[in-house]
Amino acid sequence: MTTTIANIVLDLPIPQAFSYRIKNDQLVQPGIRVRVPFGTREKLGIVLTVESCSEAEAERLKEIAACLDVEPILSFEIMQLIEFCSQYYHYPMGATLFTALPATFRQLNRRKSAQKKAEQYILTEQGLQQAGSLPTQARVQQALWIKLKTGAVLSSDCNIQEKKIIKRWLEQRWIQTEQTKAPSSPALQPLLALNTAQQQVYAAIQHTEGTFSPFLLHGVTGSGKTEIFAHLVQHFQPKQILILVPEIRLATQMETRLRRYFAAHQLVVLHSDRPAGQRIYDWQQASAGGVSVIIGTRMAIFTPLPDLGLIIVDEEHDSAYFQQDGLRYAARDVAIVRAQRKNCPIVLASATPALESWYNAKIGRYHYLPLLHRARKATLPSVQLLDTRVHKTPSGLALEMEAAIQQRLDIKQQSLIYVNRRGYAPALYCHECGWAAQCHRCSVRLVMHVSNNTLRCHHCGYQEKMKSACPECGNLDLHPGGFGTQRLEQYLRQRFPAARVLRIDQDTAQGEQNWQSMQDAIQTGNVDILVGTQMIGKGHDFPNLTLVAVVGADDALYSTDFRVSERLFAQIMQVGGRAGRAQQAGQVIIQTRFPQHPLYQALQRHDYAGYAEILLSERKQAGFPPFVYQAVLRADAPTMDRALDFLQQAKNVYRCPDAILSFDPIPDNMPRKAGRERALLLVQSSHRKKLQEFLRQWAQQIYALPKRGVHWHLDVDPLQL
Ligand code: ADP
Ligand code: ZN
Ligand code: ZN
Repeated sequence: MTTTIANIVLDLPIPQAFSYRIKNDQLVQPGIRVRVPFGTREKLGIVLTVESCSEAEAERLKEIAACLDVEPILSFEIMQLIEFCSQYYHYPMGATLFTALPATFRQLNRRKSAQKKAEQYILTEQGLQQAGSLPTQARVQQALWIKLKTGAVLSSDCNIQEKKIIKRWLEQRWIQTEQTKAPSSPALQPLLALNTAQQQVYAAIQHTEGTFSPFLLHGVTGSGKTEIFAHLVQHFQPKQILILVPEIRLATQMETRLRRYFAAHQLVVLHSDRPAGQRIYDWQQASAGGVSVIIGTRMAIFTPLPDLGLIIVDEEHDSAYFQQDGLRYAARDVAIVRAQRKNCPIVLASATPALESWYNAKIGRYHYLPLLHRARKATLPSVQLLDTRVHKTPSGLALEMEAAIQQRLDIKQQSLIYVNRRGYAPALYCHECGWAAQCHRCSVRLVMHVSNNTLRCHHCGYQEKMKSACPECGNLDLHPGGFGTQRLEQYLRQRFPAARVLRIDQDTAQGEQNWQSMQDAIQTGNVDILVGTQMIGKGHDFPNLTLVAVVGADDALYSTDFRVSERLFAQIMQVGGRAGRAQQAGQVIIQTRFPQHPLYQALQRHDYAGYAEILLSERKQAGFPPFVYQAVLRADAPTMDRALDFLQQAKNVYRCPDAILSFDPIPDNMPRKAGRERALLLVQSSHRKKLQEFLRQWAQQIYALPKRGVHWHLDVDPLQL
């Protein structure tokens, strides 16, 4: 007697799969979600394989409690991509699978099958008349009616009570279902004619349809990359085009740009900020091949797309493509793998490519497509270095800088002060005894915030009331150290009382609404001086902005992280690219104590290539990526000893092959975070395959080690050390 069983992975950080019996009436196939008993509870799982087994053996297995899907929720292509990620990043298959699914599908109690398409409801003419006829005490009905009046409502966003009402209203013909969402879209515009340089880029990519061809599109800000994307979309349709962007805001911006040219129903945007129902609806549309343009943030790389024909990774250098917890993956790298397996072209685009991508282009692994001039007449801004050893900056800004701002005010142009620190000041000091305000849970200084008079930790969220006296010596005269956005904002208001100053950072630009209204204010000229963090550096086009002042950038030069200078260069180049985008010429002024530093010198020449070469030769000498492949075993524990101890044990359990260089365990750069002590162990190799082989064997041994309160994870191709 034989019977069938299913091997199932659960949403748990353990590498095993578990076997369950399939009941007679259950239709089970790989890729469907199931509910299974696990321990004393039920858990959500995904079926990996189905096999037959003897009745005797199956006897001791538990049964699948329920099947949640009829058809596999993920395509075979995506299941394989996920398997690759699970192996490459050494993260359990179950947890990897669940990372790839939209959050709604991870809910255990969601009985409804994912295959069932959500329906959209809209008010009919008749329904529109009914406002007055709803009983005033019927709160739910009232609220639902108002929602319907302002737009379509999705069945999957309704609770049980609302669904009952929907059912009744459908019968009464107050509402009707709408299968395709077609928000009244404005007339579409024709594509812009590409200039010669754009045309060349377009032609190179367009003719590689149906083959794996990786491109690095190195286009300066404003060179017209987005317009090329629009042409590519048009060419590749009806195949699907996946466009990844690093941030939700840039997704919205890309959407706005492309909606000019393409009908609303051809395009979806996938990111975590969208209402759950809408997101699932769009995800399903994309998975069914019903839409051709998919814009999304990093996790959109796992969207099943049956007709995928082209992948574009915009701002490919951005560190937001790296997921820093759970499955630690780099969406850009996964995108390359996906394109390779799917045999389609992929375009990595940036004004400041990641050094890895630059190197890959250099050695011929990627096709290099330069686009080195702006599409419109505007020239690149001039870059001036202001030596702060000569030009003093007691208030944060040198007199020359203030003069430049005044000059813009006089001619009614905008200035942007770029300082990559939010809060008032990055530190609070006592000059009597040397005390500095420190987070007791992390090894960092507390940041002064004046808006609500607090000291805050930007790493763990701890906050306390502002200190009025030194806790060590009682001194009442405490001093802020350094300049954050708030402090510069305050100073600018006082220095230029007639100017309208707007601060843009994580504290002020919370929420899409807020951000939109800020952008509008800048666009319509209701702001004279902007103070902001890198938040503002990305992608935005402010035609009247002609001066960018860079303040406090030197701090990053001291960092021990070898990637920091690469990032700083990119940030300043991006933010500088905001200056003078339309008719007016732009100017960038950088305050620095090291005007001779190669980084600033290269910025002054707009010389990405030159600086990239300097960095590459430094990396080669030091034996850093892209010349080696790295992986880091990280551990955190209540005490540093335990964390280091665990790593040492991990190092000892497995004899390292010759091709692998394994370093000694060391405390993390930031040894204490949120009350846990952190340490790391670096291993590297010049052979990616050998490193992978080693990691596979090693990871198994690490799972078997005693943990004693230690949390650990492997970080492959780590962004930071
Ligand atoms: P990027 O994406 O490289 O920063 P954009 O695509 O945003 O550049 O282009 C910068 C500006 O130049 C935009 O306002 C865009 O509409 C305009 N532009 C780009 N290409 C052309 C073109 N071929 N003809 C006219 N205007 C163009
Ligand atoms: Zn003191
Ligand atoms: Zn902290």
